[in-house]
Amino acid sequence: VLPVVALVGRPNVGKSTIFNRIISQRLSIVEDTPGVTRDRIYAHGEWVGKEFSIIDTGGITLDDQTLNKEITGQAEIAIEEADVVVMIVDARVGVTPEDEIVAKILYKSHKPIVLAVNKADNLDQRQDIYDFYTLGLGEPFAVSGVHGTGMGDLLDEIVKKL
Ligand code: GDP
Ligand code: MG
Repeated sequence: VLPVVALVGRPNVGKSTIFNRIISQRLSIVEDTPGVTRDRIYAHGEWVGKEFSIIDTGGITLDDQTLNKEITGQAEIAIEEADVVVMIVDARVGVTPEDEIVAKILYKSHKPIVLAVNKADNLDQRQDIYDFYTLGLGEPFAVSGVHGTGMGDLLDEIVKKL
């Protein structure tokens, strides 16, 4: 059984983009299976020879009406299922109340957490991520899911905690 990495965060921070980027590091294994929904939730990842399963909790829809219940439910699933939880936030939006709610749940879980600050597409944005220390989850890792920058350092940190 492979260790499990779960991606959490409020809608639109870039979970699916980062998920796709991580699984595409292993192109030979990832296949396009006809009939499989576009929002894949589980996949196989690998980095520096370490293999893991990865879950995009944003693809798990829960029947709760409120956004807060949906994202906290996804965070609880991530804590339950994962060996390492990757919390994703948005560099361009900054820390939001929803981010603080998710961070608090993760912090209390005592699971290994990696904080990824996505949409840090340029140097200024990569250098302006210190506000995210206030989430209490340790060092923020600046990434751009769209451009791929920072993904190596993020994956190094994830596999270190597996
Ligand atoms: P999710 O709801 O958390 O799964 O977020 P998505 O992966 O669907 O991304 C939401 C939007 O943010 C899409 O329009 C993406 O193209 C955009 N996005 C994702 N990553 C980045 C990034 O690194 N930089 C920028 N500028 N946009 C991004
Ligand atoms: Mg998504």
